[in-house]
Amino acid sequence: MGSQFRLIFYAPDSSTAQRAASQAFGRIEELNNILSDYRDGSEINRLSARSGTGEWVGVSPELFDVISASRQISQRTGGAFDITVGPVVQLWRRAMRRSYFPEQEAIRQARQSVGYRYIKLDAPQRKVLLLRKGMRLDVGGIGKGYAADEAVRVLREMGINSVLVDAGGDLTLGDPPPGQSGWRVEVSSGTNADSVQTLELSNVGIATSGASYRYLEHQGKRYSHIVDPRTGVGLLHHVRTTIIAPNGTLADALATALSVAGIDRGKKLLKRFPNVQVWLLETKGDRIRSWNTLPAPSSERN
Ligand code: AMP
Ligand code: MG
Repeated sequence: MGSQFRLIFYAPDSSTAQRAASQAFGRIEELNNILSDYRDGSEINRLSARSGTGEWVGVSPELFDVISASRQISQRTGGAFDITVGPVVQLWRRAMRRSYFPEQEAIRQARQSVGYRYIKLDAPQRKVLLLRKGMRLDVGGIGKGYAADEAVRVLREMGINSVLVDAGGDLTLGDPPPGQSGWRVEVSSGTNADSVQTLELSNVGIATSGASYRYLEHQGKRYSHIVDPRTGVGLLHHVRTTIIAPNGTLADALATALSVAGIDRGKKLLKRFPNVQVWLLETKGDRIRSWNTLPAPSSERN
């Protein structure tokens, strides 16, 4: 998934801790083999390769789980989050690597196989049908959070509940460290006029999405690696979105979705998600706007 994972947890003794860590990392590696779109042989890429054949493909419980969670979030975000953006993401990745702007025609073609409605699911049989030829599922916007949640689950099964899993900056938190009321987490808006908020949290997921370092520059404009599924183009408004949600999967997906939606559309979308907080910074031209619903900070500095 292109991220380094870090685990912090409290175990009764070091041999239990070693065993727990290796189980949790094992689970993350397993998910990477299923979900990575960088690996030709990953289960998700093998599924995508059968798009447009009319074939219902049996998949692992994990893959089915991620796809159905993604589809549900697509429905509830009006398509701002959409794992079928794969063909468009591939186009932009290539363009970024070689520093050119994708041709209109290439974008148009890639968009033809984008649309979460082209994913059909058969839950009882655990099968997936990808209706259009050339579809490519990309769970880059949700997989880290899902894997972090799974690592927490594995640790909990071993009786270890005071857990923090860091998936390259996206966190899933279990219970607080022993004797404390929460994990201290610093959230930053990432601007020059830097503002940092310190929160004490537990049993939530926290994720940040943004265009700050991965983008394509063309004729003075910066296009993000996050694409608007409606246009097939990388985001032009510059955002940094932090989400706190009941779990890491939802936090990860919503950070991506609300980056696409921006503040105005985001406010409407958020109403559909109870118990979710957001800190979104949006830059359009010279104008910077901020939207912050994070819980009252335990301490704040500017
Ligand atoms: P994140 O860093 O969680 O915001 O995820 C960004 C990654 O999600 C990108 O690198 C793409 O692989 C994928 N992606 C881009 N745009 C979207 C979108 N609109 N919906 C879902 N996934 C996306
Ligand atoms: Mg995300």
